[in-house]
Amino acid sequence: MRKGQITKALSGFYYVTDESKTIYQTRARGVFRNQNLTPLVGDYVEFESSNLTEGVIQNLLDRKNELTRPQVANVDVGIIIMSAIDPGFSTQLLDRFLVMLESKHIEPVIFITKLDLLTEEQRLEMLQYQKDYTKIGYQFILAKESETNKKEQVEKIFRDQFGGKLIVFIGQSGAGKSTLLNTIDGSLELKTGETSKSLGRGKHTTRHVELIPLMNSLIADTPGFSSLNFDDIEAEELTEYFPEMWELRSECKFSGCIHLDEPKCAVKDAVDQHTISQYRYDHYLLFLEEIKNRKPRYKKKGAF
Ligand code: ZN
Repeated sequence: MRKGQITKALSGFYYVTDESKTIYQTRARGVFRNQNLTPLVGDYVEFESSNLTEGVIQNLLDRKNELTRPQVANVDVGIIIMSAIDPGFSTQLLDRFLVMLESKHIEPVIFITKLDLLTEEQRLEMLQYQKDYTKIGYQFILAKESETNKKEQVEKIFRDQFGGKLIVFIGQSGAGKSTLLNTIDGSLELKTGETSKSLGRGKHTTRHVELIPLMNSLIADTPGFSSLNFDDIEAEELTEYFPEMWELRSECKFSGCIHLDEPKCAVKDAVDQHTISQYRYDHYLLFLEEIKNRKPRYKKKGAF
C-alpha cells in the first residue's frame, strides 16, 4: 500500500502526492460514502495504484483538524493578513481570526501590511499592538515597505518556519493577500484575491481546492474562514482560545471560571492590573455573548 497526501480534489478525483512528489490520480473507495467519510484535501491516505491514473484510496489517516471553507484538513499554520489602514486595523477582527485558529489548533501568524500609509501617531499605536500580541506569544510581523525587502522578509519566514507545513491565508479583503504571495512567487495565481469581499455571504460555487507548493510548504489556494461565526465553539471553552487567560486558569478561585461574575477571578484581576489588555478582555466578553445568543443548533432527528 502506498502513502501520500491529497493535494487536490476535482470532479470526484483525488490527486495524491507521495513522498517523492509523484502525483497519483485516485478515487475514493465506495465504503467511505457508507461511513459518511469524505476525503479532504490535506488528508493523509493509504492508497493502491499500479499506475498514475487509476489509484484507489483505501484508508484515511486521522486528521488533526479540518476547515469547512476551504475544505482542507491538517492545516498547520494560518497567516492572518491585516492592513494597518484602509481598511483600518481592527483588533476585534484580529481576535476573531485568532480564536478561530486557536479552536482548530492551527498556529496563527499575524502579518500587517500597508504600514507606509500610517501617520507617526498611528505607527506608534501599531507598535504597541505588536508588543501586546508578542507578549501573548503571537508572531506579529510588520511588513517591510519596499517590495524587495518584503520579498526577502517573507521568504525568510517561509524558509525558517514553514518547511513541510500546510498553510492557509486568512484576512480582510483589501489587505493584500494575493499581492503578498505574488511578491514571493510571481507564478502563483492564487484565488486569494478579493474573493473574501463576500465575507460570509458569497455565492458558494462549487470550486475545487488545491494545495500549491511554495518553498517547501503547501498553501491552500482559497482563503480560510469565509464565515466569522463561532458556530463550533462552546461558551465554556472560549477561554482556552485566549492564551493569556488560559494560562491563568488554575489561579481563578473556581475551576471552570469563565471570568465573568465569579469572585476571585485571576483574569479580571490581571485586566485591572493591565497585564491582560482591556480590549482583549472586552473582545472575550463580546464573543462570549455572541456564543450565548447563538440560535440553538439544529438537532439531529432522534436526538431526544
Ligand atoms: Zn476567572
